[in-house]
Amino acid sequence: MKKTNEIKNKVRLQDAQVLAGGYSPAIRAMEIGAIVSFIALELFLVYRLYNNPHGGPWLLLGAVLLGYLAADFVSGFVHWMGDTWGSTEMPILGKALIRPFREHHVDEKAITRHDFVETNGNNCLISLPVAVAAVSMPLSSSGWVFCASFLGAMIFWVMATNQFHKWSHMDSPPAIIGFLQRVHLILPPAHHRIHHTAPFNKYYCITVGWLNWPLNLVHFFPLAERLVTRVTGLVPREDDIGDEAARALVEAQVAAEAPVVQAAKELLTKATTPEEAPPATATTRPSA
Ligand SMILES: [Zn+2]
Ligand SMILES: [Zn+2]
Repeated sequence: MKKTNEIKNKVRLQDAQVLAGGYSPAIRAMEIGAIVSFIALELFLVYRLYNNPHGGPWLLLGAVLLGYLAADFVSGFVHWMGDTWGSTEMPILGKALIRPFREHHVDEKAITRHDFVETNGNNCLISLPVAVAAVSMPLSSSGWVFCASFLGAMIFWVMATNQFHKWSHMDSPPAIIGFLQRVHLILPPAHHRIHHTAPFNKYYCITVGWLNWPLNLVHFFPLAERLVTRVTGLVPREDDIGDEAARALVEAQVAAEAPVVQAAKELLTKATTPEEAPPATATTRPSA
């Protein structure tokens, strides 16, 4: 606990105004183009899937649900990349993808002031290659129909992610949204608050957040960070929270064990304890 507080004190926060100023007209024009292309491709996919003889309600329902889980994972993975690696100074990616994540940590209410284009543009942009792949599939068997529906559903939920995320930061979202948050069918505010606690290093999934708990249990993101550091030598979160806090956090994470490992060790200790300390009666029993 003490260690966590030490890291929190070292966290350097970036200037919110500078980050917000990075939203240029060129980025906005690119986002509008991405949204229009995304909607056109999704509608074309629905048109192709409509009345396809290889489809069916169960196949489509399965694809939509699996797409929801996949979108939750993608939201976590992309969010983790944006929070952890690179800097806002990088060409194209820096301004279009990294800047919004960094701005969100220092001014988390800014997202509630973003309009439709700023909220959804970047997610449409990163989904375009997948949308092209989905509409290019032949749909000549149920396997192809499932793949195309799954990809189409996944990117639909990826697009919805920033909207769900935005609602989780609103003080009073619409009543129906509040209900969906309470029953945890979309990202609940209290659940997402865990991510917004410095040093912002867990609970990255922001579509619905169902995968946050299992990913945290196996230390998925800290392990991925160690792998990236080993290969590239980069320090995770160096640009976001500053070099000192980033290095302190790496040390703390290396020392910590994944909850699943801790649980396994406890189980193992419980299982082996009786053998190490046999009951007293066994030693006092007279030999035959
Ligand atoms: Zn974040
Ligand atoms: Zn947030």
